[in-house]
Amino acid sequence: MSGTYLGLPAFPQAARLSTRDEQLRANLRHATHTIRAKRATAIAELSDWPELRAAGTAIKDHTLHHLDHYLEQLETAVTAAGGTVHWAIDADDANRIVTDLIHATGETEVVKVKSMATQEIGLNEALAEAGINAYETDLAELIVQLGNDRPSHILVPAIHKNRTEIRDIFHTHMAAWGRPAPDDLTDEPRDLAEAARLHLREKFLRAKVAVSGANFMIAETGTMVVLESEGNGRMCLTLPETLISVVGIEKTIPTWRDLEVFLQTLPRSSTAERMNPYTTTWTGTTHGDGPRTFHLVLLDNGRTDTLADTTGRQTLRCIRCSACLNVCPVYERAGGHAYGSPYPGPIGAILTPQLRGTTTALDASLPYASTLCGACYDVCPVAIDIPEVLVHLRERIAQGGPTTRHGTKATIKPAKGHATERAAMRAAAWTLDHPAAWTATQRLATRTRALHPRRVPGRTASAWTATRDLPTVPARTFRDWWQHREPDPKDSQQ
Ligand code: SF4
Repeated sequence: MSGTYLGLPAFPQAARLSTRDEQLRANLRHATHTIRAKRATAIAELSDWPELRAAGTAIKDHTLHHLDHYLEQLETAVTAAGGTVHWAIDADDANRIVTDLIHATGETEVVKVKSMATQEIGLNEALAEAGINAYETDLAELIVQLGNDRPSHILVPAIHKNRTEIRDIFHTHMAAWGRPAPDDLTDEPRDLAEAARLHLREKFLRAKVAVSGANFMIAETGTMVVLESEGNGRMCLTLPETLISVVGIEKTIPTWRDLEVFLQTLPRSSTAERMNPYTTTWTGTTHGDGPRTFHLVLLDNGRTDTLADTTGRQTLRCIRCSACLNVCPVYERAGGHAYGSPYPGPIGAILTPQLRGTTTALDASLPYASTLCGACYDVCPVAIDIPEVLVHLRERIAQGGPTTRHGTKATIKPAKGHATERAAMRAAAWTLDHPAAWTATQRLATRTRALHPRRVPGRTASAWTATRDLPTVPARTFRDWWQHREPDPKDSQQ
């Protein structure tokens, strides 16, 4: 497996391969079912969960509606607190800014706190090209990095690996990155954690530069907030001399008070904890404590384009809790790699095609990576109607239409491969608009029912029936039955 997402196949091809991997499916099933059950218990403890969910939704919507105002307020506050703000329009821009900042320190090694934004822009690969080694310090990210793998879950990036596989990765690869794993390493969680702790301690004590993301940015004070469970984040955020945070602009919230809501909803939705073990906040720089230099790189990379879409913009409410992944029947079977993006599962199926556009076969396939069962919407702590956005994106891909790319209005053409679907929909629309034609079609279907195949022939249409049978057409249409039924005496009495 390669650590990059370039040139990956469309979701159906990738999922066809991954669903054949029985070990992968067993690992995923065990992990997602365990987390989802714990989460349900943790949520049930709160009698005001619906109110918290509504409050989180309202805060996020309000901020997104006034994002220009809050971002300027944030920049002013960060600068006043001694930090420097950089605006990155896209991934290349952000990578160049971070690389230049690290080069300016004269360092060639950085420690990293787990960050979705830096995965999104491919920062580790860009730094490697510039001769800078970036060391992941989150345990699961470390496993992924050592194994030259890709993350397959938002919260548990190594969810697809079991303990024995992790021990083998430590044995084989740790020595090339620093302190080797002990020869007698077992696959007991305590031993694996200790090996990782000793390996990482060297890096924490040596690194002069750290790179992080942030879960939230508080506009009123310019404060960054990171929630994590292992303490590695706190080490990265406090020990190095220079701290560079790369954060998506949608992570802004107006006030400290707003944080109260998310400090309740995020830990329960993600790890099923009442509160997360480590909450680190920092505001610019503080004399004699923590990093002496702080840079904030505010990342757009398709977010303002997403904001321009009145249906799709709700995606930007996401607080990356991963609850939607753990209940998704498609994710549970296909695994995260099939989504070809650091954002897998239901949220990835709507976020990735909005951030990256739908011009590649992979991105155009993502909104179809769902059964539309709605379980993701039910669990989402900020009430993102994922099925609604999936259908909206499917329509845009199949029909084409107006969109916004790089800040300007554009019209996208219908994607290839949907001509049969469009023709079928046009024919269905015309028939449903003409009652006589509809009745004739129904009668024809009932009279020829014995001749109907169980599968639709043809390359495109057969994709529909490759995994399901066509429904059997009844012997009589509903209208025929209604007109010729025996009247019910009760009807005449009413
Ligand atoms: S879409 Fe909702 S449930 Fe999924 S990761 Fe984002 S906040 Fe969590």
